[in-house]
Amino acid sequence: MKKNEIEFGKFKDLAYQRPNYDEAKEKLKECISKVKKAKSFEEVDEALHIYEDILANIGTNAQIAGIRATLDTFDAYYEEEDFINSKEMSSLSLVTKKLNQAFLDSKFKEDLNNKYGSLFITTIENEMKLINSSVLSNFSKEKKLCQKYDKVVAQCKTSFRGEECNFYGLLKHMESTDRSERKEAFLAWANLYEQASDKLDDIYDQLVAIRCDSASKLGFKNYTDNAYLNLKRFDYNQNDVKIFREQVKKYVVPEVAKLYQDQAKRLDVYKLQWYDEQLFYPTGNANPIGTKDELVKKAKDMYKELSKETGTYFNFMVKHDLFDLETKPGKAMGGYCTFIDNYKAPFIFANFNGTSADVDTLTHEAGHAFQAYTASRNIDLLSQTWGGYETSEIHSMSMELFTHPWMDKFFGEKADQYRYFHLASCLMAIPYLVSVDEFQHQVYAKPSMTAKERREVWHKIELEYMPWRDYDGNKFLSEGGFWMQKQHIFLDPFYYVDYAIAQTCAFQFYIRNLQNHTEAWKDYLSLCKAGGSKGFKELLTLANLKNPLEEGTLKDVIPEIVNEINKLKEKANNKNK
Ligand SMILES: [Zn+2]
Repeated sequence: MKKNEIEFGKFKDLAYQRPNYDEAKEKLKECISKVKKAKSFEEVDEALHIYEDILANIGTNAQIAGIRATLDTFDAYYEEEDFINSKEMSSLSLVTKKLNQAFLDSKFKEDLNNKYGSLFITTIENEMKLINSSVLSNFSKEKKLCQKYDKVVAQCKTSFRGEECNFYGLLKHMESTDRSERKEAFLAWANLYEQASDKLDDIYDQLVAIRCDSASKLGFKNYTDNAYLNLKRFDYNQNDVKIFREQVKKYVVPEVAKLYQDQAKRLDVYKLQWYDEQLFYPTGNANPIGTKDELVKKAKDMYKELSKETGTYFNFMVKHDLFDLETKPGKAMGGYCTFIDNYKAPFIFANFNGTSADVDTLTHEAGHAFQAYTASRNIDLLSQTWGGYETSEIHSMSMELFTHPWMDKFFGEKADQYRYFHLASCLMAIPYLVSVDEFQHQVYAKPSMTAKERREVWHKIELEYMPWRDYDGNKFLSEGGFWMQKQHIFLDPFYYVDYAIAQTCAFQFYIRNLQNHTEAWKDYLSLCKAGGSKGFKELLTLANLKNPLEEGTLKDVIPEIVNEINKLKEKANNKNK
């Protein structure tokens, strides 16, 4: 039975209360004995739903605290609460492990399998391997280090042409049409990272060591195996991901090299530098028109026109003010979408800076939010709302592309330029995405590497996947310092290739959408509704998508998308004349 929706006002008014973990543990113990003593499947099922309710109640408060901690990294109260919740949840998972064992030992295991799908059992079997009492203190230390990372980067700022800038502020100047301004901003950006690099290297050294130690205590051969299971990669392995990276090298890298050559010609520069990569047109990138509130209003109209389902969902987001979009001092970096269980409410966090990336957030994070909103109202178990990251990113990246026809609302005259820039950028990002993946495989294969050695590894990877990359002689970046600008490497190990895998699925939706919108949207909706109730391969089949991890998929998909990129380029150029 699905829980009723709870009425609530706006996110900012939601009350936070630290969950009562002792009470939760007692209730979980009751669930365990209920499952052990169960005489019917109904009793087991009831225990499962009580368990889900306990987790949802804790999750709701933990999510609220977690969001507020990132909204203001100076807020000591939520920082502390976020830490405590994380610590208590690790300790609670020792009890849930026992409950999972009871499910696995139950004579009604087959009924669980029949009702909730084989993934349910696979998931809990794997969860068993991911926790024991010997790693709890490591998890706390890891969380503390992640909080420290957030603070170090959130507090990095510099004065640029009389303006106080954080990394985002500088990135905006790196899109300037004035090359000397781009270069100056780039140097300030590089210096900011270099100044923070000792602290960041130290944090990363410790993170790698702790993660490897936890993996060993849990009985894994190495941390990579552990991380794959953390990410619920049940139906593919490191070799499949390697096959994917090889396909990228063969089919994507040469095409992206051509796109950058094109860009250098357009910008009329002899050699494209990294600070030129972000500027697509010499006259300036297409920037969205309007304030934050106006952009949200446009998004609301767009989602209403796109489909009935997206319209209802976005109204809900606006009604409850489930966004925090503008960048501000002390706010954590990045963008994310999370989900507040009891309210079945997604929340979108972003750092708007006036560039087209703001619109990408309204389509990308809104894709995640739409999926969570939809799946949570369609699937019985809250724990199956989300799939793995490779699946979740299909929802978001495809939404970026499904909304292309509405970009005139956001970019006016420059909509065609945006569409070309955006689709080309999607392809151009892939070599970097797999570089981050390759880097982490190498780091965790040899965890004793020094900071200098890690930089050498990154530098070699750049030569292989991004041979066009040039830092204009900046020593720190030319020697491999660039890796440390990637938040995921610190906070979410191995979560990154997922974007590349998902992008190649989103490309398939893009092409199919041009051929037959109704069919493509129908499959997309089925995928969103299915959430994480099925495995990755099964979900691909459900949505009629080819598996990017299989040899041959990129060979088919990439030339088709390059063809579409070229068409958009023609269109944008014709408008420009
Ligand atoms: Zn995403």
